[in-house]
Amino acid sequence: MRPVARPPWNPRWAALSASHAVAAALGEYCSACEIPLLSKRIAWNASTGEAVTGRARPADWGDLLVLCPHCARAAAGRAPGGTVLLPDRDATFALGPGAPFSDELRTVEVAGTDGGEPDVTERVFVVPNGDAAAGTVQLFGLNTAQQVDSRLRLALHADPAEMPLSGEQRRQLTELDDPRLMLRTAAWEHAKDAAVAYRQLTGDAALASWALLLAHAISSRGFWSVWAAVLTEVDLPLVTSALGLPPGSADPKAPGYRLPVAVAAHAFKATRGDWLPSPSPTTEQD
Ligand SMILES: [Zn+2]
Repeated sequence: MRPVARPPWNPRWAALSASHAVAAALGEYCSACEIPLLSKRIAWNASTGEAVTGRARPADWGDLLVLCPHCARAAAGRAPGGTVLLPDRDATFALGPGAPFSDELRTVEVAGTDGGEPDVTERVFVVPNGDAAAGTVQLFGLNTAQQVDSRLRLALHADPAEMPLSGEQRRQLTELDDPRLMLRTAAWEHAKDAAVAYRQLTGDAALASWALLLAHAISSRGFWSVWAAVLTEVDLPLVTSALGLPPGSADPKAPGYRLPVAVAAHAFKATRGDWLPSPSPTTEQD
């Protein structure tokens, strides 16, 4: 979960809906699952657990996050209390074994209603480390399909006698509605491929091109923390620049310093860099 530093309230946001204002401030990605927010986004008050409709207001600015419809459906009406990690106030990303969340490829079997063989595929699950992280995964249903489309929900629950579905059809219908696991898995696979490609590069120009392509891929696919977890082991300063942050040493004269790639710095607004090895850089904001 990408950690963010919430910018102070900007009076211009009063002209926007709450969901547009918080996306403008924190980036167009779900604050919980990190999927890109392509059409529907929901402002969510982390204190009350309620969706916020209408214009943005300074009164609840300090509690607003932006959610995709799937995370919002999972979290609907549940005040998070103290048992969850939230990206604007907790350490929701870290390197190494103490990380609050890690990604794990698991085999998923989906049984059909047609009596045939189950569909078997692999999906990346979020594995929590500790009670608060586990509460977060549960609150937002990060590993559980959350159906928001009522027609697809009906199709999935159709009478098997009238509409038998194979395991593959049931999985496809589920993922058409809630693509979070499918897209998280795709991002993870691309990050693994990028790590392999990195090892074949020679010369600084090739490295810089790789980082630029990477920044575009991360920005368009989302799941910042998936990329960060896979690739910071490869080349920390280069990858943090592709993630939109300067490296741990914010001193431009320090060896290995690289400017944040602009496309990622713009997309991943307000990302905190306090998880980087010392010394902590200044927070990147738009
Ligand atoms: Zn989400």
